[in-house]
Amino acid sequence: MARKVWIFLISTIAITFALTAASAQDAKTVIQNAQQAMGKVNTIQYSGTGTMGGFGQNWNPTSPWHPTTITSYTKAIDYVNVAAREDITRTQQNPPAKGGEAPFAGEQKQSNFVGGGGYAWNPPAVQPVLAEGAAPGAIGVPQPAASEERALQIWLTPHGFLRAAAAGKPTAAAGKDGGKNVTVVTFMDDNGHKIVGDIDDQNMVTKVDSWLPNPVLGDMLVETTYTDYKDFGGVKFPAHILQKEGGWPVLDLTVTDAKANVPVRIQVPGNALGAQLPPVNVTAQKMADGVWFLGGGTHNSVLIEFKDYVTVVEAPLNEARSQGVIDQVKMLVPNKPIKYVFNTHHHFDHSGGLRTYVAAGATIITNEGNKAFYETAWKAPRTLQPDSLSQNPKAATFVTFKDKYVLSDGTRTLEIYKLQGDNHNELMSIGYLPKEKILIEADDFTPPPPNAPAPVPIAMGFANNLYDNLQRLKLQVDMIAPLHGNPAPMSAMLAVLGK
Ligand SMILES: [Zn+2]
Repeated sequence: MARKVWIFLISTIAITFALTAASAQDAKTVIQNAQQAMGKVNTIQYSGTGTMGGFGQNWNPTSPWHPTTITSYTKAIDYVNVAAREDITRTQQNPPAKGGEAPFAGEQKQSNFVGGGGYAWNPPAVQPVLAEGAAPGAIGVPQPAASEERALQIWLTPHGFLRAAAAGKPTAAAGKDGGKNVTVVTFMDDNGHKIVGDIDDQNMVTKVDSWLPNPVLGDMLVETTYTDYKDFGGVKFPAHILQKEGGWPVLDLTVTDAKANVPVRIQVPGNALGAQLPPVNVTAQKMADGVWFLGGGTHNSVLIEFKDYVTVVEAPLNEARSQGVIDQVKMLVPNKPIKYVFNTHHHFDHSGGLRTYVAAGATIITNEGNKAFYETAWKAPRTLQPDSLSQNPKAATFVTFKDKYVLSDGTRTLEIYKLQGDNHNELMSIGYLPKEKILIEADDFTPPPPNAPAPVPIAMGFANNLYDNLQRLKLQVDMIAPLHGNPAPMSAMLAVLGK
């Protein structure tokens, strides 16, 4: 009996080893065949036109990301030095599509870079005069928050996928992609991302999946499909690239040209090399008794003291920002719990810090149309970047409203209204302190800094609509506490609107 068990165990182990070895062997062969068919390249440069989706900026929680038109797109990748450059020219759709992202007039050009072992940067707003022969991007604005995604994107391209898979520990398995038989090749990149690609019977890479951490969506699927392969001067490259993040397109590109092994010169600027995320900075500015404007970064919050508790308006960005804001709140009002956090709209830059408040025991006040979205999104696994709520899970509690909600305890009143006709976010809501005549609003009006040029008319639609809502609701506003920019008197808004 014992002998039989041993034989069974030993043969099981042997078979497992044999299968693992065969799988690794198969994977290497599959990758080699694909590299032979597609062309083994050290650099690639491809260009085209298409549409872009503003990630996390959809008009409502169930619509696609905010679309803009790409009139010109070029990406150059140096696989040997692990560096990439992307140049995009965008226009607004006409009429502009509803949703977030700051409106812009005419063409908007943007470039971004990654290199030097995973450091990201953007070119400076004002291009310096470059020395003869200097590579573009020799001076840069470090973008450490973008490093992880930009580096990963290199390995999500068809040739990059094969190169990284060959250098890693790939496994292969039979699979299906839209009814077609494919070989599914899986490996982990050097930074701990699982990358899964499909290779079809023509030895072309047709799909690559990976996952990135996101404060709202957790381990977020990044899925890229490659179709309509063409021969571009000896290298096979897809004429259609569709990339989705969190389920909706971020890039839909028709490729018109691809060149392999052209020189790609990307020089990492000294200031980008080794750049780290800047520390969270939260400043407090008293706007009225028991009302503080919490700024110091790109996104603001407002602290409102009630008799037995405090309420925070807005939990932007991520857990790090929320922790900084919560620390500041505890210094300003030491002995009262944060009972509520009011969320103006679901755009990810305004909701990415909500989970930290849930973990800290606060109830979320948000429009009824956002609740199901948060509940579903927050169920996703968070293995790539655990947060305080994933480490100590508890169900979020919500107070929801349709058009209006009033939070009052007799000493303080915060009125909350859903705006009508808001093209930035369908469920956009504002806060209003009737006694203090303070308006708290996100994204519809950002007070311009002194001496700023007049905003383009396209950017004034949101503010005009906000103004119409203030009239409709008969709200008397003295001061605006904007969730971007600095507090300003109502006259600043009237001046911009020419009222
Ligand atoms: Zn927004």
